[in-house]
Amino acid sequence: MPHTPYPSSYYAASANPVPARPELKGETETDVCIVGAGYTGLSTALFLLENGFKVTVLEAAKVGFGASGRNGGQIVNSYSRDIDVIERTVGPKQAQLLGQMAFEGGRIIRERIARYNIQCDLKDGGVFAALSAKQMGHLESQKKLWERFGHTQLELMDAKRIREVVATDSYVGGMLDMSGGHIHPLNLALGEAAAVESLGGVIHEQSPATRIERGANPVVHTPQGRVKAKFVVVAGNAYLGGLVPELASKSMPCGTQVITTEPLSDELAKTLLPQDYCVEDCNYLLDYYRLTGDKRLIFGGGVVYGARDPSNIEAIIRPKMLKVFPQLKDVKIDFAWTGNFLLTLSRLPQVGRIGDNIYYSQGCSGHGVTYTHLAGKVLAEALRGQAERFDAFADLPHYPFPGGRMFQVPFSAIGAWYYNLRDKLGV
Ligand SMILES: Cc1cc2nc3c(=O)[nH]c(=O)nc-3n(C[C@H](O)[C@H](O)[C@H](O)COP(=O)(O)OP(=O)(O)OC[C@H]3O[C@@H](n4cnc5c(N)ncnc54)[C@H](O)[C@@H]3O)c2cc1C
Repeated sequence: MPHTPYPSSYYAASANPVPARPELKGETETDVCIVGAGYTGLSTALFLLENGFKVTVLEAAKVGFGASGRNGGQIVNSYSRDIDVIERTVGPKQAQLLGQMAFEGGRIIRERIARYNIQCDLKDGGVFAALSAKQMGHLESQKKLWERFGHTQLELMDAKRIREVVATDSYVGGMLDMSGGHIHPLNLALGEAAAVESLGGVIHEQSPATRIERGANPVVHTPQGRVKAKFVVVAGNAYLGGLVPELASKSMPCGTQVITTEPLSDELAKTLLPQDYCVEDCNYLLDYYRLTGDKRLIFGGGVVYGARDPSNIEAIIRPKMLKVFPQLKDVKIDFAWTGNFLLTLSRLPQVGRIGDNIYYSQGCSGHGVTYTHLAGKVLAEALRGQAERFDAFADLPHYPFPGGRMFQVPFSAIGAWYYNLRDKLGV
């Protein structure tokens, strides 16, 4: 089998040392076979192992090869869709459950980091930055809404206050969430994988699941082996391809791009983000940025529908960075990469069961660092027979993309064009 390495990125270049994890060869038996070693798979594995299950994780490439090892590193709580929209969709009872869970993912991440001593540059504090009065009004109503669900830690910032935490004149105000924050995402995934193994879980890298034989005792096939299991958890998200056709028709992989500067002097770094919070703006096609542990600026933005890799990422993202921080005009870009997240039509995650024993969670549509950690807990609860929180997610509507995969890209691109225009006009 050809060996798939990490794509070149700042994260791969600064990853903590990792053991070699062998490809699956031959037949093995387990309680739960998990397909994919991103946050969804690893979080599920950890919760299951902590509750006495035997777990085998199959990873097509390497731990954190997908979005979990390439993302902006922002611990952004809640979902990619506002809770009032969710409430209108599923009614007050389910919305109450989902609303209560919306800030749990950030707590799970911090608990994991502390319990398993994961070295991943955790910093507290995330800012939602408003580019217009309309966006500021939206943040004000969001804050009120979240307070209804018991989340009272959010602080609104006027133009003067946000200037104290982000050195740019781009914003009219914002909202600070100290339960948000940022991490080195690949090192978080690697630390979680080590925790899985410390509890007796098995991870096979370079072992793509090529077929799931369904039935009372499902069998997951790889090129050189197979895993017999009581349950299968599908956690391949945007990298899953066609392994489970029911899931492919309901979602679309999208690329988003990230650049990383050379290390900045302490003075320059401090002038950009004096409190070292991470920032995302409130546009539909949003910009997101933060400082790394070694004081580089990581800046992401832009979406490529259908996950085609753009040829010159720096040319796309650098102008966005300079719009926010023109003071970086002479700073060199050391790394640029792309990664795929999974978009759903509703922008809500898709969670469910296929038959009795194949479970899945996918498609958090951009904001997934916290959600995937929560998803692991909720999936593990369901496998233990406590499905109330799982069902709250599973009841969210799963819409197929109109026209199927062939028309997904043009359809979504039109949608993105429309929202981009609205962002630009500030309406
Ligand atoms: C560039 C970028 C920036 C982002 N920034 C942020 C951010 O700052 N904050 C935030 O909240 N969210 C962000 N996201 C989204 C977030 O990273 C994802 O939602 C999250 O990491 C998804 O985790 P996952 O485990 O579901 O999927 P992934 O991390 O993509 O993991 C899926 C894994 O499954 C494996 N796999 C797939 N198919 C198979 C198979 N057949 N057999 C075996 N293995 C398989 C893949 O190789 C991969 O390792 C970003 C995403 C990208 C791409």
